[in-house]
Amino acid sequence: MKKLFKCSICGYVSEGETAPIKCPKCGMPAEKFNELDSEAAGKIYRSNRTNDIHMEIITLAEKIVTLSEEGIEDNLDPKCLAAFTQAKNEAWVIKQRSKTEIAGHIALGKW
Ligand SMILES: [Zn+2]
Repeated sequence: MKKLFKCSICGYVSEGETAPIKCPKCGMPAEKFNELDSEAAGKIYRSNRTNDIHMEIITLAEKIVTLSEEGIEDNLDPKCLAAFTQAKNEAWVIKQRSKTEIAGHIALGKW
């Protein structure tokens, strides 16, 4: 596990042997960074893949919304219209559920 340093000004987390010379996000100098302890760093590394999966699910759900809207617009017949409308609504739920998980992870330092 590599060392992680967190910017005390903006919260940006940097990976490396030392803190960055300046924060890539807010531009503050290295002195504003604090090294995360192993528990805090462990949460970030452990949650990395799960957060990526949630983001990919959100992207796919947005694609379902876009496709569903195209199908709704095309409006071939009432059953297709109903199926696309339902798919659009379900994709919204899938997207929001993953966003909720990510928001929870951020609140717990798991990001
Ligand atoms: Zn910063």
